[in-house]
Amino acid sequence: SAFVAFDHVSLAYDDSGNAIEDIDLDIHEGEFVAFVGPSGCGKSTFMKLCTGLHAPTAGSIKVDGVAVTEPLKISGMAFQNANLLPWRTTLDNVLLPLEIVKPYRHQFRKRRKEFEGWARDLLKTVGLADYEDQYPWQLSGGMQQRASICRALIHQPRLLMLDEPFGALDAFTREELWCVLRDLWEAQRFTVVLVTHDLREAAFLADTVYVMSSRPGRVVERREIDLPRPRA
Ligand code: ADP
Ligand code: ADP
Repeated sequence: SAFVAFDHVSLAYDDSGNAIEDIDLDIHEGEFVAFVGPSGCGKSTFMKLCTGLHAPTAGSIKVDGVAVTEPLKISGMAFQNANLLPWRTTLDNVLLPLEIVKPYRHQFRKRRKEFEGWARDLLKTVGLADYEDQYPWQLSGGMQQRASICRALIHQPRLLMLDEPFGALDAFTREELWCVLRDLWEAQRFTVVLVTHDLREAAFLADTVYVMSSRPGRVVERREIDLPRPRA
């Protein structure tokens, strides 16, 4: 059964026509899917629909069997900009969702030492073990993005939403982080929805790649990928 179910979903922002048109697909729990397409094809709109930040004009969206009618709390997110809080250390940036998201926020003071352990484990898996006390401005762009992926995963979300997460990185760092992400996913099997304009990135990371076209944003192709991948 579907974990994320799009049932003939369209969205029009205004009377200029659909930004997203008739998207009808199922994403299974533990699947890694990517949406690729040119700028303006509706990738960000798709993400916002998935997470309940926009409501469809037509059709419906369910996550885990429940209609999405308000911003989703079971997901973690990372974007092109790492958006770390500059006054917090790496460790405290990663801990942030646990201070905000239920049920952890009610337990934060009591379990802080344990939560810090989770954060350190994650930072270790992405190679940031020695940087937990540094501030964002002391980290490279790639390190900041690693920290932002840890932050997206710290509350053990079942769904990870990634919107061009490696878009601002140089090619070498980007490909290093592909391996890091793929290893995290293989160990934990959360569901991942990645949007990117980078076809190689989509094919390297995802099990299923949806190709989108613009004006209106539609899925024009679904392709299953089965490639051997190098490890980090
Ligand atoms: P992508 O992320 O693939 O670049 P978007 O989802 O941002 O695409 O945009 C899809 C289409 O919807 C584009 O034509 C864009 O101009 C339009 N659009 C996006 N956001 C808005 C908005 N808030 N209001 C009106 N039009 C928008
Ligand atoms: P909101 O609806 O704004 O997200 P909550 O449902 O989290 O708010 O909180 C409602 C009340 O219930 C609060 O006073 C909160 O302290 C308490 N509460 C909710 N969940 C828990 C929990 N897991 N442990 C302890 N208290 C909780």
